[in-house]
Amino acid sequence: MLNSRFTQPLTDRLETARSQGTYKHERLLTGPQGSSVSVRESDAVINLCANNYLGLSNAPRLVKAAKRTLDSHGFGMSSVRFICGTQEIHRELERRIAAFLGKDDAILYSSCFDANGGLFEVILGNDDAIISDQLNHASIIDGIRLCKAKRFRYAHLDMADLEEALVHSRKCQRKAIVTDGVFSMDGEVAPLPEICDLAEAHSALVIVDDSHSTGFFGPGGRGTAAFHDVEKRVDVITSTFGKALGGASGGFTAGPQAIIDSLRQFSRPYLFSNSLAPAIVGTTLAVLDLLEGSGELRQRLDDNQKRFRRELTALGFNLVPGDHPIVPIMLYNARLAEDIANDLLTEQVYVIAFSYPVVPHGEARIRVQLSAAHSDEQLDRAIAAFEKVGGQHGILGLGREEIMERFAV
Ligand SMILES: *Cc1c(COP(=O)(O)O)cnc(C)c1O
Repeated sequence: MLNSRFTQPLTDRLETARSQGTYKHERLLTGPQGSSVSVRESDAVINLCANNYLGLSNAPRLVKAAKRTLDSHGFGMSSVRFICGTQEIHRELERRIAAFLGKDDAILYSSCFDANGGLFEVILGNDDAIISDQLNHASIIDGIRLCKAKRFRYAHLDMADLEEALVHSRKCQRKAIVTDGVFSMDGEVAPLPEICDLAEAHSALVIVDDSHSTGFFGPGGRGTAAFHDVEKRVDVITSTFGKALGGASGGFTAGPQAIIDSLRQFSRPYLFSNSLAPAIVGTTLAVLDLLEGSGELRQRLDDNQKRFRRELTALGFNLVPGDHPIVPIMLYNARLAEDIANDLLTEQVYVIAFSYPVVPHGEARIRVQLSAAHSDEQLDRAIAAFEKVGGQHGILGLGREEIMERFAV
């Protein structure tokens, strides 16, 4: 029988989360993921909060490719890769990703979380250093925890602090710098040219997690390294199939042959976890065909994010400037952000408000994510809803200080 000594602290912690407003409620979709979704309250809510950047999650041609692969390659692999879990399409996908990103080779994982979880321990040992942006993704943090290298953390995007960490780590044998390519809360792009300069000056490896870029950001959708024209200077890229590239699941690491070969031999989430399902592998190959064949979806996504940013700014909202389909609309006050998100849902627009502890105190926001699948008409309606709800709350045209003052508790 469960002992209350175990359950009581858990219950207390859940209660604390509820009372602090950090308890996460999962909204139930009653149909597929898409530019609009069905929820209990309505069957056509414009969806502005999925990582469905290219609109591929429920694209008919991908559903077809998945069905085709189900027929040709079966449902599951029931094996890790090195026993009998590798089909020719698994290797084909690894080669295609490597070629897409201009790397020697690539290795598939069940998720990017696993790719990051299984990377650092393999390539860094006791005498080495891992230097990480303070706001890197949880999976990078966990991967670093599993490795024995000395850990250094630099202030978010702060190149002087990164340099200091490199100086502090000079006694370590080998050094690696790791950063998100694009940070998901702000859509900020890591300053890769500066990071690469510092890495070269201090002989450090550069690792970029491009989960919020692969397939849609930078020339050809090749990600932040391509965006910054430093593709040759970024050594290792990890990323996900669970966002723009169809959004099912799966991830990968791409990089130098010796690193990929070592991961295949020694990376624990690869060695001890099942192969990626064939349908995902076959469908991701179709996604790469699509991305290499045409820039249409990328262009559409870029047009959508530019239009949304332009019109919301003109309405008097405070946006974090940028060029990425993650568009943070700053509301500063947590209650206000929450109320506006709720009111937008009444207007059939689904967005999520973020507040402390996900973002710092006083920086509550609504994070909008655009998709290539959003039609002009959907964006018209979404923008009109923002105008209406922003007007009702009397915040259009107000700056940070005015909003903070008006909504101070
Ligand atoms: C989403 C995300 C991940 C996790 O990817 P999964 O494939 O869903 O595990 C890892 N890193 C970053 C930066 C992400 O945004």
